[in-house]
Amino acid sequence: MHSQQVTAEPPSNDRVQGDVPGVLRSPVSGADRAPLTFDVIIAGCGPTGAMLAAELRLHDVRVLVLEKETEPASFVRIVGLHMRSLELMAMRGLLDRILPHGRQRPAGGFFAAIPKPAPKGLDSAYAYLLGIQQPVIERLLEEHAIELGAQVRRGCAVAGFEQDDEGVTVELADGQQLRSRYLVGCDGARSTVRKLLGVGFPGEPSRADTLMGEMKVGASQEEIAAKVAEISQTHQRFWLRPFGEGVYSVVVPAAGVSDRAQPPTLEDFKQQLRTIAGTDFGVHSPRWLSRFGDATRLAERYRVGRVLLAGDAAHIHPPIGGQGLNLGVQDAFNLGWKLAAQIRGWAPETLLDTYQAERHPVAEDVLDNTRAQMELLSTEPGPQAVRRLLTELMDFDEVNRHLIEKIAATGIRYDFGEGPDLLGRRLRDIDVKQGHLYGLLHRGRGLLLDRTERLTVGGWSDRVDYLADPTAALDVPCVLLRPDGHVAWIGDDQQDLDDHLSRWFGKPAS
Ligand SMILES: Cc1cc2nc3c(=O)[nH]c(=O)nc-3n(C[C@H](O)[C@H](O)[C@H](O)COP(=O)(O)OP(=O)(O)OC[C@H]3O[C@@H](n4cnc5c(N)ncnc54)[C@H](O)[C@@H]3O)c2cc1C
Repeated sequence: MHSQQVTAEPPSNDRVQGDVPGVLRSPVSGADRAPLTFDVIIAGCGPTGAMLAAELRLHDVRVLVLEKETEPASFVRIVGLHMRSLELMAMRGLLDRILPHGRQRPAGGFFAAIPKPAPKGLDSAYAYLLGIQQPVIERLLEEHAIELGAQVRRGCAVAGFEQDDEGVTVELADGQQLRSRYLVGCDGARSTVRKLLGVGFPGEPSRADTLMGEMKVGASQEEIAAKVAEISQTHQRFWLRPFGEGVYSVVVPAAGVSDRAQPPTLEDFKQQLRTIAGTDFGVHSPRWLSRFGDATRLAERYRVGRVLLAGDAAHIHPPIGGQGLNLGVQDAFNLGWKLAAQIRGWAPETLLDTYQAERHPVAEDVLDNTRAQMELLSTEPGPQAVRRLLTELMDFDEVNRHLIEKIAATGIRYDFGEGPDLLGRRLRDIDVKQGHLYGLLHRGRGLLLDRTERLTVGGWSDRVDYLADPTAALDVPCVLLRPDGHVAWIGDDQQDLDDHLSRWFGKPAS
């Protein structure tokens, strides 16, 4: 066991009672347990794990990320960062670093790939989509986490764990054991952590597989464009999109090709292209080839005692609309400050449980919208008729806007109880006298925007910043923002504010 550092006794709200599952090949008794060397161990250094590590480090939490792969992923799949994820990056000062690596595209046209441009006046300072290679965004997030002080160990697979009332003993595939106060499974769709926890993952199995890859194409651009235009009238899971330098992204249904257990081959792509288009377009020299299904599943619980789940470990759905990575990164953003508060000892008793209360319904909604989108891709006459009808409805700006805000996650409103519509929503980035609002959230702290200049954050000033007379753009007297930018309180009364500071930020410092 590795044990260099002995930690202080955890604060009282850090203890978890009751029978909590976990599986260890060689269980350790209390006396033999190693010290709690880390506060949080994260299984998996994908986008979710890396984002969570960085968020925890903003609060000086000792974080170790264990990643089973020795090298970062080499495939070059392009993913889209939607408006809300771009906002999160801006809130942590990361956007300027990310933008040069991606391509800005219009925010519209993502719901079921119905090609409608976005209406004017979307409610975000970042009203576009950023197309970026997944390994690039993963690298940038990992570098950010490491710069903030997270440890990342590659080639280390979590194979087992056991939790007790003070921490979690995590066992690696090579038998090594490590201790931390919490373990978070960010280990993807086949999550070992979720399986060992015994958390149910109900939903639907994959019904239709799709092949996706990037390759060079022999046919002329004109021939491809004409064929694609013709076929996309009837086949929605089919495209060839140019990436430049003769490379195309190719998507075809996988129905009937080769063994599911085997990686797809270029011949599989050729065969499907010939079946659908009558030609294989002379595809050759693949950069990568993959197959994905449309399984849709949601973990029954996001937390069991000291072990939590986030990202694909907690939810899977087809990639239509490009939401999975965004959803995982946003889970991490919601969980980071809450878990940090728990570890630092100032979290109100129920704060950590608000992670599941807030994020589970969001994932339910994403699963539902991908189910709906998949139906709209069907070539059956019924779904095609619904698709035509929805296409017409999207001419109404409000319908189009609603669907974009759903995919881009800017329409989320957490249930914080009765109050004005803004309560529970995120506040968009607005100009304030000191620059941009999001520029004031880089440190991951709460923020009181006080137009009355009468209120104070008092004993919470170690966790919450204060800004007097921020901007006339705010049409309410005062707003309390959580570290994730969601509006936790609106009002002008000090006692009411103090009650809400206690609700979200615990007891004031004496
Ligand atoms: C074809 C396709 C296109 C997509 N396009 C988009 C898109 O445009 N936009 C979008 O938002 N999403 C998209 N997605 C979804 C997106 O790729 C995933 O949702 C995202 O990668 C999930 O991130 P994650 O960090 O939760 O999990 P993962 O990316 O799966 O990362 C999990 C990490 O955990 C590691 N790991 C696994 N087991 C262990 C273990 N036992 N111990 C330690 N480490 C372990 C893995 O090696 C991996 O690095 C797409 C997916 C597919 C298949």
